[in-house]
Amino acid sequence: MTDAWDFAVELRSDPATAEARAAALAKPGFGQVFTDHMVVAPWTAERGWHDARVTAYAPLKVSPAAAVLHYSQEIFEGLKAYRHADGSVWSFRPERNAARFTKSAERLALPQLPEEEFVSALRALVTVDEPWVPSADSGETSLYLRPYLIATEAALSVRPAREVLFGVIASPAGPYFATGPKPVSIWLTTSTVRATPGGTGAAKCGGNYAASLAGLAEAVANGCDQVAFVDAVEHKWLEEIGSMNLFFVYADGRIATPELSGSILEGVTRASVIELAADLGHTVEERRVSADEWKDGVRSGEITEVFASGTAAVITPIGRLAWPDGDLTIGDHSVDHGVGPVTKSIRSTLLDLQYGRIPDSRSWLTRLA
Ligand SMILES: *Cc1c(COP(=O)(O)O)cnc(C)c1O
Repeated sequence: MTDAWDFAVELRSDPATAEARAAALAKPGFGQVFTDHMVVAPWTAERGWHDARVTAYAPLKVSPAAAVLHYSQEIFEGLKAYRHADGSVWSFRPERNAARFTKSAERLALPQLPEEEFVSALRALVTVDEPWVPSADSGETSLYLRPYLIATEAALSVRPAREVLFGVIASPAGPYFATGPKPVSIWLTTSTVRATPGGTGAAKCGGNYAASLAGLAEAVANGCDQVAFVDAVEHKWLEEIGSMNLFFVYADGRIATPELSGSILEGVTRASVIELAADLGHTVEERRVSADEWKDGVRSGEITEVFASGTAAVITPIGRLAWPDGDLTIGDHSVDHGVGPVTKSIRSTLLDLQYGRIPDSRSWLTRLA
């Protein structure tokens, strides 16, 4: 494959020592440790994309008047590089992240990055920082990749920026659940929404996250781990958790997930779960699901499992739902630490695919190194 962009490689003179890297990889946590290098590629209205390169990971030099700092003209992506048993390194459906990056850029009036360059940039960085990809035998560990696009033009007038920066940083990630998946508790907020019809909910942009933080703080203040949002018009229909899509498993084997309403982020994990669940014999419904259906279904026993999907945590079981005047336990917490059998089988199928332990019959994997 020929890469249209020639990523110049400027190797740093002071990379982490093998010992320092091993120490970082032994307990990476999530998003705290970064590799030796990063990708940067500036764009200006006059020159277009230019000077794409892999260079030393370092603070960016950005004007305090940069539009991103004032008007949040920013988008990002999140995906992982997985080490397989033979040492090779792969990503999962990166073309979907590339396409979503294009859609997000359009919504945020940012320039389009050629989709093939999105994958080339990942490959350029992972090739240089390959020793930072955790070994295959270390469990659910990976190298988390974070592409982003920010408006760097120093201009306080409100209009699409004429100077932007594309970048990719990489961070080794430990298993999201250190001791196996554990159900999380969800606070159902009705005091804030994260997205509105016609707004930016379907774009992966920092502004959506900023809008979700007060809801998250409310969840934590009420003793919950995460927050779930309902729609902005009727305050009735479930949308998603601030960074994960929602799935409901029914006693008869059906699975439902909120349909893409325009204000929900279309997760790559969500799309994959829909296909894999069908393979496993489930009927999957993409439709509106109300907060009342969740509550009533758990109370009646019709809903037996609830989980959330996203790249970082893969599949997160949900074991409790709380709201201002109620609190419900979901599933049987005396078995398998409360992780239901459907959640468990979908989770392990997805992980087996990503780590190359079962055949990749849909060609979902792309080799990076
Ligand atoms: C990234 C994200 C998700 C999950 O998407 P994946 O592609 O599965 O990682 C869900 N909701 C929001 C708001 C997100 O930003």
